[in-house]
Amino acid sequence: MNPMKGKPFGEVLVRWQKQHGRQTLPWQHTGDAYKVWLSEVMLQQTQVTTVLGYYSRFLQAYPTVSDLAAAPEQDVMQLWAGLGYYTRARNLHACAKQVVTRFGGQFPRTVSELESLPGIGQSTAGAIASLAYGVQAPILDGNVKRVFCRYYGIEGYPEQTTIKKTLWGIADANVPAQQPGVYNQALMDLGATCCVPRNPACSACPLMESCVALRKGMVNLLPTPKPKKVRPELYFLSLVVDDEEGGVLLELQTDKGVWQGLWTTPFVACDSQLDCEGLTGIATSWVEHYGLQAHRAEIERQLTGLQGQPWLVHELTHRKMHFKVLRLTVPGSWAACYPISDKPVPKIVHKLLDQARVLTQAAVPQQNTLDLG
Ligand code: SF4
Repeated sequence: MNPMKGKPFGEVLVRWQKQHGRQTLPWQHTGDAYKVWLSEVMLQQTQVTTVLGYYSRFLQAYPTVSDLAAAPEQDVMQLWAGLGYYTRARNLHACAKQVVTRFGGQFPRTVSELESLPGIGQSTAGAIASLAYGVQAPILDGNVKRVFCRYYGIEGYPEQTTIKKTLWGIADANVPAQQPGVYNQALMDLGATCCVPRNPACSACPLMESCVALRKGMVNLLPTPKPKKVRPELYFLSLVVDDEEGGVLLELQTDKGVWQGLWTTPFVACDSQLDCEGLTGIATSWVEHYGLQAHRAEIERQLTGLQGQPWLVHELTHRKMHFKVLRLTVPGSWAACYPISDKPVPKIVHKLLDQARVLTQAAVPQQNTLDLG
């Protein structure tokens, strides 16, 4: 488990922390669980430099956990304003109240009791227990995960269940009985000042002699980044009809979905291989639904040419959509058509109209050729 040559991992880090770690942060060396907890909650997703001002203002306004518990929630929220992630502030207040009602105004000493409080996860509980009470409890925040992944050469996204379990196993096995608070502080300091996300200062790292990532040249590859989700590829056929007055056939999207509440040209999901039977069914239902019997032959003609029509690609964050179009112009002014500027339409409608125009222009010379022939 521990690849360091004969030297206990914890011992090396404790020595390093005392010589090179951070010593002057206002919540250090206080032995006050309230201060440690306050700083730990503020430091989640926030830089130390930002936290410093908020931390001192909070302590000034609420010197004890009982003061914080007694404060109106609006005042707490106002003091938190600007730190972001406001669930933290609501949990902070709820936690202070529970410390008063359940534990008589004293933060509990065990990890399991600390974890039972709002907003305190396993790592925060370990930090409070070890830093404030000297309990032999592990921590595993983002910085520590990075240090462990690199030092032990652990590949795989750290938030993945099996990897996380491995990392907690390492955290648990390494935390020393002596000075666990200094050791945990060392891990946090190392991740914040030495083993930073980009260009870590390996030459100044106390773990460099036996760091697996350094030896294997994998420092910049670990921790493994979050795997990108494969976006589903979806295929659609859209009916683009305009009238001679410049209106476009639009319908309101009432189903829940990305375009709910917006107006689009009619479209239906289809097969990427453009299954003929399915397409004929779609076309028939459109003809009947929109009263396009006079254009049935034209629609059928276009259906046979769909294989040669390029897909129009429309990319959204969570999906990649592909469209082909059937295009028609109906004479005069048609009640189902609206000027495009009259309705809220998503970007795809403009793209479909452009596609339809391009296809219509491309089709003209072909028709001329046929006429001449
Ligand atoms: S040697 Fe470099 S990569 Fe390895 S733990 Fe130290 S700083 Fe991180």
